[in-house]
Amino acid sequence: MSNSPLVEYVCLSPFCTSPRQSKIDTITIHHMAGNLSVETCGSIFVRPNRNASSNYGIDSEGRVGMYVEEKDCSWCSSNRQNDHRAITIEVANDVCGGEWHVGDVALERLIELCVDICQRNGIERLNFTGDTTGNLTMHKWFSDTTCPGEYLGSKFPYIADEVNKRLGVNS
Ligand SMILES: [Zn+2]
Repeated sequence: MSNSPLVEYVCLSPFCTSPRQSKIDTITIHHMAGNLSVETCGSIFVRPNRNASSNYGIDSEGRVGMYVEEKDCSWCSSNRQNDHRAITIEVANDVCGGEWHVGDVALERLIELCVDICQRNGIERLNFTGDTTGNLTMHKWFSDTTCPGEYLGSKFPYIADEVNKRLGVNS
């Protein structure tokens, strides 16, 4: 199992389960609830007793960080079953509060990362169904959180469409 060639910064978190116990067939997109650089996000995921991580993070400059290798299961979505099958991605907000806006550069890089994840792991298409029957999932479906925030959450159908277009499959 490989990791993304888009990664520019690596800071491996101890808060993961190695190896993951399911084949990768899902992507779960989170927001950071902050405008963190990939370095700052990584520093949080190595703090003692933090007990949280993600596979990847994307900052507002569009840089990609890796915190848990794809072969391992991140502790990200408050749901072990989801996290064993999902690649989890934390995306920075360029505006904090309100609808938790995400900048266009980060959003574009997110789409590129999703395409790469699908291509390397044999995921034929991203299927956003609005619930856990699809393979593009949200944190708030599994626990009492507003993650991925109103703005990013509203972009899930667009993200799936755009990824599928680039994968060469119909939405
Ligand atoms: Zn989340």
